[in-house]
Amino acid sequence: MKIKYILIFIFCLPILGFGQTNSDFYTAYIRQAKDTMSSPLFHGRGYLKDGQKLSAYHLATEFVKLGLKNFNPAPSYYQSFEMPVNIFTQHPTLAFDQDFLTCGIDYLPHPSCPSIQGNFNLMWIDTSHFQDPKKFKSISKKDLRTTFLVMDLPKTLPKGLKDVVANFRTNPFNAAGFIEFEDNLIWGVSTEASKHGIVQVKRGMLNRSHKEIRAAIASVHMPNFPNANVVGYIQGKTVKDTFILVTSHYDHLGQIGPHIVFPGANDNASGVATMLGLAHYFSQPENQPDYSMAFIAFSGEEAGLLGSIHYVRNPIVPFPKTRFVLNLDIMGSEEAITMVNATEQSNAFNLLDSLNNKMGVVQKIKTRAQAANSDHYYFAQLGIPAVFLYTEGSVKGYHSVFDTAENTPMAKAGEIHSLLVQFLKSLQTPTWIAQRKGN
Ligand SMILES: [Zn+2]
Repeated sequence: MKIKYILIFIFCLPILGFGQTNSDFYTAYIRQAKDTMSSPLFHGRGYLKDGQKLSAYHLATEFVKLGLKNFNPAPSYYQSFEMPVNIFTQHPTLAFDQDFLTCGIDYLPHPSCPSIQGNFNLMWIDTSHFQDPKKFKSISKKDLRTTFLVMDLPKTLPKGLKDVVANFRTNPFNAAGFIEFEDNLIWGVSTEASKHGIVQVKRGMLNRSHKEIRAAIASVHMPNFPNANVVGYIQGKTVKDTFILVTSHYDHLGQIGPHIVFPGANDNASGVATMLGLAHYFSQPENQPDYSMAFIAFSGEEAGLLGSIHYVRNPIVPFPKTRFVLNLDIMGSEEAITMVNATEQSNAFNLLDSLNNKMGVVQKIKTRAQAANSDHYYFAQLGIPAVFLYTEGSVKGYHSVFDTAENTPMAKAGEIHSLLVQFLKSLQTPTWIAQRKGN
């Protein structure tokens, strides 16, 4: 290489090098954080094998590494609470006659399913049972205590049957359980245990020639499961007492027994990883924000927003000093970003949309009205400016065993990080007007 070219190369290095390195650094940092949180070490960040507790401890350790401050007397980043939860302690077994099904792939016990053990008859229920009074009456005359009712119903019920079927599912005739057909198996977390068995079976796994269901499902209802949100903050340079909150839930569905794991990479290791990327950026001395920023990893979201409900009942940052809440949940895709509560927070929507138009990060920023679908919800209901961002694109496997780190590449992790950095910086300028309810 000639000296002239060497000099050009050396002079260009810091300019190219810095831009490249910064974006590459956050892409790698965020993906690594997502891979770690969805690894087998954390057992699906749920209620079996200490998954939730280990995840909280991991996040607190990350907060220490980033130098985030505690609101509590150090070293605790935890905001503890208790919640009821139904957990599945053993590997379940399920067969129709001699056909054994694979948990997670062919069937799932409903999250509220109690322990079931034994062989049970099958009785098929279809729409005609609800349309023909004689047929319906015939069900009531049977002793169903050793029978599972197979709910062979169309996805969309005929008009007028919705309430009748919903009432039938409350089990007025004391059946041992229900089998519900699903095209896609989607799991969840239940705070309650049902009084009868409920099993979700992939359509096609059971037919009318099968005579019985053989099941061994073990679950335990824990009325006071200990849980915690993890909270840290960075002090602002100029406005120390007013905070921007960046939030994301770290809990997921956990495990069914020792083998069936729900890694929750997209939901919501991706959101927590994106939040950690932002905490890393703003914790660098040269990037210290003007306003203070708190980072909250909520738990109990999958069980019904329980961690954020606990927070809004016991706020750490007083509501009048909470300038904005940015909640990140399902950040693994790359095509579009949807802002929930965008119709109310139109300034925030316009800001993110115009930044994205300038930076060309995703194809579209979509607007959506307020919905109770993540941890921003109760903040917004209390009049605090709050939005929830989720991504859409190639990542599939919502609430299934397929929501894995490999299936969630976070193709635009670094670019989305840069977009959110600019968005959060813009919320801290004097020209930004927060839209509070009633204003
Ligand atoms: Zn989620």
